[in-house]
Amino acid sequence: MSVQHSHRDDFPALRRKIDGEGISYLDNAATTLKPDSVIRAVTEYYETNGANIHRGKHRLSEEASDSYEASRVLIANHLGASANEVVLTRNTTEALNLVAQGLDLDPDAYVVGCMDAHHSQMLPWRRAGRLALTRVDADGRLDREHFRELLRGRPKVVALTHCSNVTGVVHPVAELIAEIRSATDAVVVLDAAQSLPHQRINVRELDVDFLAFSMHKMLGPTGVGVLFGRSRLLAGLRPLAVGGGMVDWVDLDGSVDRRTPYVFEAGTPAIASVIGSGAAVRYLEALDPGALHRHERDLAAALVGGALTSPGVRLVGPAELTDRIGLVSLRLDVGVPTGDVARMLSDSYGYMVRSGHMCSQPLVTGLAGGEILRVSAYLYNEVAEITGFYEALNELLSCIG
Ligand code: PLP
Repeated sequence: MSVQHSHRDDFPALRRKIDGEGISYLDNAATTLKPDSVIRAVTEYYETNGANIHRGKHRLSEEASDSYEASRVLIANHLGASANEVVLTRNTTEALNLVAQGLDLDPDAYVVGCMDAHHSQMLPWRRAGRLALTRVDADGRLDREHFRELLRGRPKVVALTHCSNVTGVVHPVAELIAEIRSATDAVVVLDAAQSLPHQRINVRELDVDFLAFSMHKMLGPTGVGVLFGRSRLLAGLRPLAVGGGMVDWVDLDGSVDRRTPYVFEAGTPAIASVIGSGAAVRYLEALDPGALHRHERDLAAALVGGALTSPGVRLVGPAELTDRIGLVSLRLDVGVPTGDVARMLSDSYGYMVRSGHMCSQPLVTGLAGGEILRVSAYLYNEVAEITGFYEALNELLSCIG
């Protein structure tokens, strides 16, 4: 099966033209485009239902609740978890804040993280405890010796990044978790925002305690994040928000909380987006994993190869193709702000790529010394788009330089 040709037609945004010319969307690490089936699921909810969930006994509310809960079950099955271990949040950021605040750590609690943590993982732990970051090498691979040394300090929590949104490196988390388990009794939290869109994860096999990701980075609508939590640990977590929907009973003296996961879902959620998220999971699960993997490897090879052969461009991250996703970050050796290059690539050539510090400023500053250009591909991109992107970049840089 050829992934790119059979699936491009499912994504209406790929037919978008700007000034009569086609576009190439290469900003998938920020968010992915949505297939027809996801868009249909969202609009169908608004066209045929539109009611609020959970607290209504009328037909529309019950139907909406069923569709909402069906998405939770689909997501849980996708992870090998049970539905009551899947908390629906707004995004990865909220999911990670929920764990970091909810564990109610002593402010002096020792937490181990990674230098390539996204700000959404770094800042919640910095606020919750005393955070020490594992060093990375010049390619962004974790310094395993330093990791072991930090573990010897007996952390309460180890917050891992599965895949860096800057280098595209996929860390060997199964090995890291085995090391954590043999050295400490720390709670293991995994940020899977950049890995789960590209690979299946079974939370039981991985032996992770908490795992966070965003549906919008894997074909789903914006507004839905997921926090998987092991039942025993979820039961002890303090909710981030209190209010309607998370209580069974309220009187003037107090209240009785609902059971997990509802106790963490105060207020009206993003109902349509959660329903659309179910359609996204269905779409991903219908794809051939072998073909996807081969396609992703080809895209990664084109991305890395182009970086290595383009003058005035430095690859930030490893040149090897093992253990990485189809994403490269580039440091440009030009006298023009990287954001201006990104705008010119968009407006003159139709390539949508991201520029800046990628919400991982300490890492980007350390590895690149300043702003970068990030090119991130997904299943509907083609190798020819990557080739075209480098042709455009080289032309642009030779004009600027
Ligand atoms: N973690 C990683 C590795 C990310 O790449 C991102 C988003 O770019 C996030 C967390 C935050 O995701 P969200 O903005 O959906 O909360």
